[in-house]
Amino acid sequence: MRFYACYAFDLDGTLYRGNQPIKGAVNTVFELKNRGAKILYVSNNSSLTNHGYVEKLVTLGFPVDETWVRSSAIAAGEWLRTQSLQTLFVVGEPGLVQTLTLMGLTVINADTKGNVEPLYPSQFHLHADAVVTGICKKNLSYPLLDSAMQHIKLGAKFVATNGDASFPLEGRRFSPGAGATVAFLETCCGVKPHVTGKPRPEILLEGLKNIGICPEDCLMVGDRNDTDIECGITAGCDSALVQTGVDFSSTTATYIIESVENLLT
Ligand SMILES: [Mg+2]
Repeated sequence: MRFYACYAFDLDGTLYRGNQPIKGAVNTVFELKNRGAKILYVSNNSSLTNHGYVEKLVTLGFPVDETWVRSSAIAAGEWLRTQSLQTLFVVGEPGLVQTLTLMGLTVINADTKGNVEPLYPSQFHLHADAVVTGICKKNLSYPLLDSAMQHIKLGAKFVATNGDASFPLEGRRFSPGAGATVAFLETCCGVKPHVTGKPRPEILLEGLKNIGICPEDCLMVGDRNDTDIECGITAGCDSALVQTGVDFSSTTATYIIESVENLLT
């Protein structure tokens, strides 16, 4: 395999599962960096702020700088700003609320800690310009989804940070992903969302632009065909599917490798 000027890594199922790094992953990322490659972390998981990602990656032993992290929460904030969608109803974790707030956007249904709660449209508060969904493990409830539906029915743009069906945890366990929540709202509203995370290429292309790397000099590394590999292809990058997460075969990836360790061979 050729050496690339930049390696864009998916996180869940590619570099770690839950809080456990995949064997050899830490050493591989350090070695690629030491050989002069730039590193990007491109994740559809919207549950953490960039600062939160830095803390997690440092704890697990990976080299990281806040500017290397490209999450679907950041991509959502960037897109919402280009569309002038300022006032938001969020179905997601505090990390998504905090990311959007730090980007200057207004979340109408969260407390000061970023915990989301049901809030029905009324004459007493601003109507939402957009409903933004992400993984919502902590506060997902029927009233939360019901009130999100009412905002969409009144014209709020439906935005999904990602449509991932599931995400891999330690061992062989998988948990429901943000795509399940998206499907709920899609079904009851009859509206398809605008997705800001992978496979849309902007989440990767914007990161490459920030560090001055051309797509053809970047390898996108991930465990899912429908998000990671598709994103790499659409962005114009080569791609490598690792067999440590969701998918084990691919008809579209440039390379299929057992794990990120094989990037060094
Ligand atoms: Mg993954």
